[in-house]
Amino acid sequence: MYLRMAKRVLLEADKRLVWKLAYNFGLKGALSVQRFKRRLKRGEYFPPFLYISVINSCNLRCQGCWVDVAAKQQTIDLESLTRLINDAKAAGNSFFGIVGGEPFMHKDLLKALSRHPDAYFQIFTNGHFITDEVAKEMRRLGNITPLISVEGTEIVSDERRGRQHVLSDTMRGVENCLKNHLLTGVCTSVCQTNFDDLVQEKWLDRLIEMGVFYTWFHVYRPMGPDANPELCLTREQQLKLRRFVVEMRAKKPIAIIDAYYDGEGKALCPAATGISHHINPWGGIEPCPIVQFAKETIHDTRPIDRVMIESKFLHDFRQLAASSTRGCIVLERPDLLHELAVLHDAGDQTARKTAAAELLAMTARTSQDMPTQEIPEKSLVYRFAKRFFFNDFGAYDHPVSPLKAPAVPQKT
Ligand code: SF4
Repeated sequence: MYLRMAKRVLLEADKRLVWKLAYNFGLKGALSVQRFKRRLKRGEYFPPFLYISVINSCNLRCQGCWVDVAAKQQTIDLESLTRLINDAKAAGNSFFGIVGGEPFMHKDLLKALSRHPDAYFQIFTNGHFITDEVAKEMRRLGNITPLISVEGTEIVSDERRGRQHVLSDTMRGVENCLKNHLLTGVCTSVCQTNFDDLVQEKWLDRLIEMGVFYTWFHVYRPMGPDANPELCLTREQQLKLRRFVVEMRAKKPIAIIDAYYDGEGKALCPAATGISHHINPWGGIEPCPIVQFAKETIHDTRPIDRVMIESKFLHDFRQLAASSTRGCIVLERPDLLHELAVLHDAGDQTARKTAAAELLAMTARTSQDMPTQEIPEKSLVYRFAKRFFFNDFGAYDHPVSPLKAPAVPQKT
């Protein structure tokens, strides 16, 4: 399997792009995690992986989207984005996740990324704006991997994403990327309506046949004003998905990303471990994209690493999340998150200004944490890589809740 994967990369992708990935993301990314670990020893948290929502606007209207995509357009402007990335690079970072809204609706997106040939960017996109010219430009730049979301069959995609012909427009974007030999990924937010179609070996075979190099199965999270909680996976489905990912990683020549388990299969929250935090289009610094509260902003005179290291809100979020669950605090204990936001008087980062009310209205439910049912990695490569570069980094050893008396977790 490893040989088949290596052969695919060597034969199907542009060699220059493979080199950029290996150097900018592989080597420099590994070094940035080492620097992160050294900072942790000093009690300083600055994530090696920043996720930046560069724009709130989007051409689609997905179920369960927490971004105010129809509100007045807000972007991180070119100069603020440049400064942010430069400051993060100065602190040792080299990888950035670019999120939205739909990032390709940001008029200066590729211009901004072209200023950082020494960094690597993963763009989360619906693919609709990736024309042949855009794909050619990404190939020329060499420091970008598009991660294109596919949410199911034609019918399911239209229903999930609130528009018509969504899948065909998305697949055109995927084809343009593949035609230009980009290292292309496809991701899915797995939910009730696409589980049976996409959590399937034959779907992975189709992606491999098309030339897609990696995939990422997120789990649907019922957030925002149109939360659609009926789409959530059951505990059995979450377990089945985890088992599927572990099996396929050891079998198929396609990389499969997940962000919620260590090599032994123990759950973790990337925001609780501090390996990743999020910046919204207004510049607000949030623990993660669905925790839409912030005390600090990138529009600060201090560099981004100092702002994050000195943030009491982020510190308390990590402690609260880690002391509550190894899973997702938003899903399992929205009440505690609300208390934390009140304690810090953290600003609601939504345009709709209903984030606090939404938290209070949420029903607590299970998340990725499934104690006693952990499924360790079967693939030695994933297991080894996670041991060094993706684990809980000791976050769950001695967390102290900043709240007076958090109640015993209640999951439905
Ligand atoms: S709080 Fe939940 S959604 Fe946010 S990073 Fe943690 S597990 Fe993921």
